[in-house]
Amino acid sequence: MAIRSEVEQWDVVIVGAGIAGLAAAIALRKDGRSILVLEKSSMNKEVGALISLQPNASKIVDGWNMQPFLAEKKPMVDEAFRLLNVEGKLQVEMKLNTSQFGADRMLYHRQDLHDALRQAATSENMPGSPAVIRTSSGATGCDCESGTVYLSNGSSVQGSIIVGADGIRSAIRDEVIKGTTSEGSKAIPTGLSAYRILVEIDKLPKLDVPEDVFDLKRSATTMIVGHDKRVIMGPGRGGEMFGLVCLVPDPNPNGEGTSWNNPAPLGEVLEAFKAFPTWVREIMSQAPDVALWQLRDIDPLTTWTKGRAILIGDAAHAMLPTQGQGASQSIEDAEALQAFLSGIDSKSSSEEVHAQLQAIVSARYERASLIQAYSRLQAKPAASKDNKTVQLNPQEFMEYNCNYSGAKDWAKRQREAEEMAYKQTAARA
Ligand SMILES: Cc1cc2nc3c(=O)[nH]c(=O)nc-3n(C[C@H](O)[C@H](O)[C@H](O)COP(=O)(O)OP(=O)(O)OC[C@H]3O[C@@H](n4cnc5c(N)ncnc54)[C@H](O)[C@@H]3O)c2cc1C
Repeated sequence: MAIRSEVEQWDVVIVGAGIAGLAAAIALRKDGRSILVLEKSSMNKEVGALISLQPNASKIVDGWNMQPFLAEKKPMVDEAFRLLNVEGKLQVEMKLNTSQFGADRMLYHRQDLHDALRQAATSENMPGSPAVIRTSSGATGCDCESGTVYLSNGSSVQGSIIVGADGIRSAIRDEVIKGTTSEGSKAIPTGLSAYRILVEIDKLPKLDVPEDVFDLKRSATTMIVGHDKRVIMGPGRGGEMFGLVCLVPDPNPNGEGTSWNNPAPLGEVLEAFKAFPTWVREIMSQAPDVALWQLRDIDPLTTWTKGRAILIGDAAHAMLPTQGQGASQSIEDAEALQAFLSGIDSKSSSEEVHAQLQAIVSARYERASLIQAYSRLQAKPAASKDNKTVQLNPQEFMEYNCNYSGAKDWAKRQREAEEMAYKQTAARA
């Protein structure tokens, strides 16, 4: 279909201003493109929780020169990953020596990271043209071939490229996978739910726990595992906040509720974690509010692209949070857009656009799908029958996940691995 001139035109229309959409705006603005970001919400309330960026994503963010926007947000370098059993005994401490990966594992308050990405996407002081973010602008669908995005108010806009970054319940995904074997794919319950708690460290009482077992202010991630449950916790915002994600078997596996914001009574969390150390429950009991979130992911899709449209972030490969890679994979997607679309402009034909979008999918698909699968594996119950031993190996996927230098380098590594496999097969024949 030809591009219609009466519809508002943009080089890139990004649907969704979450971490994936904002990162894509930063990545693509450098080449002077006009970028419109459509966001369904009013964007005045980002979820209060902590989030980490792994070395594979931190390295990309460092390369975007985001320091002016991030420095004031008090990011913290995560120094260690610590595993405890339900008796509060330390099982493993893995120092996060990330120098081999070229960047640190960083801990952020989710609001702060989101704010910094938004500022960088729209700042006059970054290379290229600032992106325009239009809030309260939900997309209902798109025409992938013409690049038209339809909005709930009846209007439409057109982009040479549509980036579907509209999260796990993506409207753009429905169009991209229409007519493929993935048609109708939806987010699926994973059998897990998470209570999310964020407390101010200064408001906590002195905890009855030796410092070598647990230190509230230490910049480290601690996980306690047992009784089919686990708590993953650590400090944020320069040590002002402390966040806990408390995973439990889903009490309502067929019920609705993918929102971050399903309030839950504090008593319910304390009851669920009654076998956990008293000092952890003491932290929980200071929660100003608690939210219960049903965790869903999606099966790998047959494709992430159609015509002028491409899916990124949770819209493409929503995954469980057990490896903390969801946001990091979104950042990797954004870098892939930057790397492969540098030669594409508004004069490029739809075939040229689609060829580059397909190249992005080829470079990203296997890796993101494998990390999705690893995240499911890591979610399996991980304590011995007597709950005394934790059978998780935090180092298991570290090398694969974190040893990353951008999508073009990854595509080269994939090609080399395929050539090597081909040669080995030929030599055996
Ligand atoms: C408990 C838990 C802990 C986690 N911890 C980590 C962690 O430590 N590290 C990590 O890397 N990841 C973590 N993740 C995963 C991470 O939060 C997500 O993978 C990541 O934020 C995905 O970003 P996204 O932009 O693709 O989607 P979203 O954050 O869902 O953003 C989508 C945006 O699109 C908007 N939108 C939706 N529909 C439309 C529409 N039709 N039109 C316009 N706009 C629309 C939404 O309002 C939203 O702003 C965690 C996840 C969970 C469940």
